Formats: sequence, C-alpha cells, structure tokens
Amino acid sequence: MNCPYCGYYDSKVIDSRDVNDGIRRRRQCLSCGSRFTTYERLQPVSLFVVKKDQRREEFNRDKLLSGIRKACEKRPLPAGTVDKLIDDIEAELYQLGKAEIPTSVLGDIVMEKLKSLDYIAYIRFASVYREFTDITALKQEVDTLLDNEAKPSQSTSQLPLIPAEQTVGLAKSHRRHRR
Ligand SMILES: [Zn+2]
Repeated sequence: MNCPYCGYYDSKVIDSRDVNDGIRRRRQCLSCGSRFTTYERLQPVSLFVVKKDQRREEFNRDKLLSGIRKACEKRPLPAGTVDKLIDDIEAELYQLGKAEIPTSVLGDIVMEKLKSLDYIAYIRFASVYREFTDITALKQEVDTLLDNEAKPSQSTSQLPLIPAEQTVGLAKSHRRHRR
C-alpha cells in the first residue's frame, strides 16, 4: 500500500487493532512520515437480499450506507457513528450464517440500531423502508415512540390511531365494540 501523501511504497505499522471481523492498522510512511489507516477484511462469501417480490440482489454495503447516511443527515451524531453502525450491521448479517436474507430482516436490524441511536434518523429510515403510505401510519409510529412522554390522547370523538388493546384507558369501556 503506497503512502497516500507521497506515494512511497513502504510504511511501518504503529498500531493495530481488531475491529469486528477485520483489522485496522495505523501506518506511518517511511519516507514522509505521514500517518494513514488501512483496513484488512475477509472477503465474505456472497450474501443475497431477498426482496418482497422474491427478487434476489447481492447485499450492497454501499447502498445500505447511503440509505443510512441519508437518514442521519444533519443529525448531531459523532463522526464515524454511521460507519460503525454499518460495520455492526454487516457483522450481524454475516453472523446469521445465511446465504439469503429477506429485506424485512435487514430492515428490522437497521431500525433496531437506529432506534437506540437517534429517533429522527429512525423515523426517516422507517418512513422509507416501511413505505408509510399516509400520514396516519407515520403519525402512529411517532406516537408509539413518544409514548413515554405522551400527553393524554386526543379527543375521544376521533377514531383511534392505535389498536384498541393499546389504548389502555379506552379499551375497557363500552366504546370498544363501536368501531
Ligand atoms: Zn509518504
């Protein structure tokens, strides 16, 4: 690996550490002294993502990365967060030990991770992935998320946005069979 600054062919390793399934090496150019990083990663066997219509597509790390980048755009996340996230997701996928993974499983893994990272990013990703068809479905998702700090639900004359079992207060009353 040539030095990215001066092109010299030789460098020494000054630090080396395991990252998920790879090794990260910090190197220093023997000519100009600049430092740079290389990653060594096992080339995994192909992994395919199976779409809803049963079409198969080779898993594409870059495609997933750009989707998540978009979801995390302008969110106050420390540098490197998204890359770390992708590494984790990729590692998890390969650990499943399967040659094919339904998009729904992939989507769930991503959403699970985003949820604990940043709500806005999560909602953005979910709205694309779950293809929310109308604002009600999106609102429902947001409501579920905000449940902890939820204020008393809106006027009871409105149709419930969430299933009856979840509307604790209302579920008991006689309005249940009114829908
Ligand atoms: Zn150099």
